[in-house]
Amino acid sequence: MITKPKKQPKHGMLENVMRQFNHAADIINLNSNIRKILTITNNELIIHFPVKMDNGEIEVFTGYRVQHNNALGPYKGGLRYHPTVDIDAAKALAMWMTWKTSLAGLPYGGAKGGIQIDPFKYSITELERITRRFTYALGDNIGPEHDIPAPDVNTNAQTMAWILDTYMSTKPPTERSKNQHVVTGKPIGSGGSEGRDRATGYGVFLNIKFWSERKKVSLKRKKFIVQGFGNVGYWAAHFLENEGALLVGVQDAYGSIANSDGIMVAELFNYSQQNKGSILNFPNASAFENSDFFGLECDICIPAALGNQITTNNADRIKAFLIAEGANGPTDVEGEEILLKKGIGVIPDILCNSGGVIGSYFEWLQNRNGEIWQMDEVMAKLDKKMKEVFDKVYDKAEKTNGDMRTAAFVIAIERIEKAYVQRGIFP
Ligand code: GLU
Repeated sequence: MITKPKKQPKHGMLENVMRQFNHAADIINLNSNIRKILTITNNELIIHFPVKMDNGEIEVFTGYRVQHNNALGPYKGGLRYHPTVDIDAAKALAMWMTWKTSLAGLPYGGAKGGIQIDPFKYSITELERITRRFTYALGDNIGPEHDIPAPDVNTNAQTMAWILDTYMSTKPPTERSKNQHVVTGKPIGSGGSEGRDRATGYGVFLNIKFWSERKKVSLKRKKFIVQGFGNVGYWAAHFLENEGALLVGVQDAYGSIANSDGIMVAELFNYSQQNKGSILNFPNASAFENSDFFGLECDICIPAALGNQITTNNADRIKAFLIAEGANGPTDVEGEEILLKKGIGVIPDILCNSGGVIGSYFEWLQNRNGEIWQMDEVMAKLDKKMKEVFDKVYDKAEKTNGDMRTAAFVIAIERIEKAYVQRGIFP
């Protein structure tokens, strides 16, 4: 049987991030030598490694780690387990990390990686062996002061605990405890931080709240939809609901559901926990076509899954007045042009989902300094930092009469440009 090829977005994520970068670089007339440096990724690692499956067979997997830039500090960024992970995806996502950490004013560069795998096809013991073998193969290409992975799509605190344990086990006993901050997003009992689990979703919520305050709109009874009901989508929905907004539509990897009277976030979360992580067949909502998701009647739309979701295929059907990018790269350049022309607000990924890496930074600091912060302390610090970064971007966009993404890129690039100008290039 011949199946119809899936409609692909016109541009891949790598082209997308490069166009976003070049647009901002043109506006600030970025030094052409520094542009050359920031256009390339410093290191790209592709690793093929064998793992024994539960049935005794060997399978060979492909893992990636791309380190884009470390002018401001150690490389930082997540590891994702997904069939779409390849070298171009890892490069694009590593670049976004560089802009994200720079924009947030953190002492980090940008990296990203992962394994090209559908993790749902493997048992927990297989995933543990896959993770450990990948970590072993990465060797000293990662390190607490060199390159610090974190969770991303389909990885979590458990994944980080396996990485930590494997990495530590390769070090001499006297060195082991110095390495706790080789990954962030760990379980609390293994050096993780209070609040890191909700940091990205809470950051998405805060950005929406700050934006609404500037626009003088109330979030009470505002309808919102979420694409992706993983860590980011769930926590963003949780905090928005607390503020009085109404979740009316959700899409995950298995399907789409809607209820214009509202879906209780906790109810859906409990259901999905018992339904292998899927929202499908949730009793208090009706299922509908995936392709109609972005056209749902709502006020706020939160893409919190994968890249290239809002494109020319659907941007003109969006009814929301605000897009808050929980995912990395969910809107392509053409899609965004349509949104902006329609007057729809876009809080760009490198600002909107930066609560995650800011939370990671807090965890890394605690590990380094032998400190343990309480939940309220972490959340208060996150609040303050997020407000600072949001205000910087919003004010810049307003002053330049431009969009928030361009403003965010300009601030991020200028900080790195300054570091290069001050230090020069060796030799
Ligand atoms: N994966 C998250 C991101 O894309 C978190 C990265 C981190 O904490 O290092 O921002």
